[in-house]
Amino acid sequence: MVSCYRCGAPNANYRRTIYTGFSTGGWWGKRSYGSRTYYGLRPVCRDCAKSIDRWNIIKLIFWVVVIVSAIFYFLNRRSNSSKVDSSSQYHYSGETARITSATGLRLRDQPSSSGTVLLTVPYDETVGIIDKNGNIETISGREANWYKVDYKGTTGWLWSGYLETK
Ligand SMILES: [Zn+2]
Repeated sequence: MVSCYRCGAPNANYRRTIYTGFSTGGWWGKRSYGSRTYYGLRPVCRDCAKSIDRWNIIKLIFWVVVIVSAIFYFLNRRSNSSKVDSSSQYHYSGETARITSATGLRLRDQPSSSGTVLLTVPYDETVGIIDKNGNIETISGREANWYKVDYKGTTGWLWSGYLETK
């Protein structure tokens, strides 16, 4: 009659893979290297087999949750980054506009008169319109919104009060 490897009870009629011990390997200072644990198929009793099975199910559920969470995390991150990529693309409306201010018009980095001036687009020059839905701003009593435009490869914002769309 074989006794249970885990608890020593008689009638060990089941076999389960269980922890059978470990080797410490060598010692270097206070740390052990090359240490490892050993698992083996051993005879166990009915109660021990049940408890081992229960733990194995809990471990399995734990890893399934971890792996599924990781998959969802990476899928979600990938779809978010592709959203960012598509929104950062410029969608040219195909429209152009002409500068009607005799002194030219300042191209700014933001849709606001406090934005940094990137360059001044001279009178009568033509710019490509990217977005006509910038902030509305009143300058010298004139109300107009900011247009996102491209002028010879420089992208910025122009106040549309001195723009004539074609
Ligand atoms: Zn047992």
